Amino acid sequence: MSARAAPLPGVDSLLRTEAAAVLVARFGRAATLTAIRAELARLRAVGAFGTGPRAVLDAAADALARRLGGRQVPVFNLTGTVLHTNLGRAPPPAAAAAAAAAALAAPTTLEFDLVTGRRGVREGPVCALLCELTGAEAATVVNNNAAGLLLTLNTLAEGREVPVSRGELIEIGGSFRLPEIMRRAGALLVEVGTTNRTHARDFAAAIGPATAAVLRVHTANFAVSGFTAAVSPAELAAVARAAGLPLIDDLGSGSLVDLARWGLPHEPTPQERLAAGADLVCFSGDKLLGGPQAGLVVGRGALIRQLDVNPLKRALRLDKARLAALEEVLRLYLTPDRLAARLPALRLLTRAPPAIRATAERVRPKLAAFAQRTASVAPCQSQIGSGALPVDLLPSAAVTFAGDGLDALALRLRRLARPVIGRLGQQRLWLDCRCLEETEEEGFAANLR
Ligand SMILES: *Cc1c(COP(=O)(O)O)cnc(C)c1O
Repeated sequence: MSARAAPLPGVDSLLRTEAAAVLVARFGRAATLTAIRAELARLRAVGAFGTGPRAVLDAAADALARRLGGRQVPVFNLTGTVLHTNLGRAPPPAAAAAAAAAALAAPTTLEFDLVTGRRGVREGPVCALLCELTGAEAATVVNNNAAGLLLTLNTLAEGREVPVSRGELIEIGGSFRLPEIMRRAGALLVEVGTTNRTHARDFAAAIGPATAAVLRVHTANFAVSGFTAAVSPAELAAVARAAGLPLIDDLGSGSLVDLARWGLPHEPTPQERLAAGADLVCFSGDKLLGGPQAGLVVGRGALIRQLDVNPLKRALRLDKARLAALEEVLRLYLTPDRLAARLPALRLLTRAPPAIRATAERVRPKLAAFAQRTASVAPCQSQIGSGALPVDLLPSAAVTFAGDGLDALALRLRRLARPVIGRLGQQRLWLDCRCLEETEEEGFAANLR
């Protein structure tokens, strides 16, 4: 006798149930129908006849949640890496987030001049601020720093040569490799010098009639030590100037202020590189600058105008929300004395270890209660992140767990309404409290309950 005790429920009858209506409201009719059909086909294939409507709809709901239920959610970054690329890099100031939300919620003056009532300059306010802050003649902004470099090289060097030191042919996080970006920009890379030593005379020898520009790239995510030599920005500018070529300086992170003032490692600033003779300087909006993802290019007016009329600029431009956020962040730099208090990235990077330790002590019992096991407070070292020198570590404090089941505990923390992201290492789970500010502690505790 066949095991066909009862047939599978029909698609139409399943769709008429309350449970299916919930799925349709959340995922749409087409996706719900596909998920139900797929589950019925699976049950038929394994011969699971007699399965009730409830089980079919539960399985369809799980499949829909897995496929379409994912969403980007805010987290607590307790990894100890302040500018964590996987967690969206710099935490923006509340005023910048509010400006972005306001720009998204209504029509704005994005490209409209209120005085003339006609079309206005799209990036006017942001570029004015960049010129004020860096002393540059002109500025332009695009999607990210990789885009800034792509646009710069494509505009100035398509089909022509660009010499770069062999010590600067970097890879950042796999998807950004300098030689590949150059190739896509249409520029021909000319490798200069050696991995550990490059001299000004090597550049002079590499320059010929086909050379379009000279490129310098900031190498922040690794260190070369021992028998090394690099050409200083001023020396390289002199070589480029003697040959009548523009010097492009890709700073990567770049900071608009001297971080040494707050006891952090010095990062080159665009104003410093412009003063040393660079013609265009590119840097990121969401690394040390502390703003939204963006690529900023500052320098000579005539060159920036060429960038702005390249059709690629249109493909790489920023939307109104990010322009609004970037404007707010740049405005904070007009009063550098108050920057460490108002810019979260800088505030977190400069947070005093005793304050971090005090936070760790306060949240330790709450984390212990959540985990139902012993938690302790231990010193640790935070990283700046986003390619800043990994050897420049910042003393910090963490709540830590040791023993068995750390993966499961880390997963439980990641499954909270606002996921808590820590770091596993040395047979411990580390929850570095540098990025958990005092104002957030109450919310952090409530999230654990
Ligand atoms: C980070 C970095 C880039 C890429 O910047 P994105 O903003 O991530 O596109 C390019 N060059 C250098 C030197 C960098 O450090």
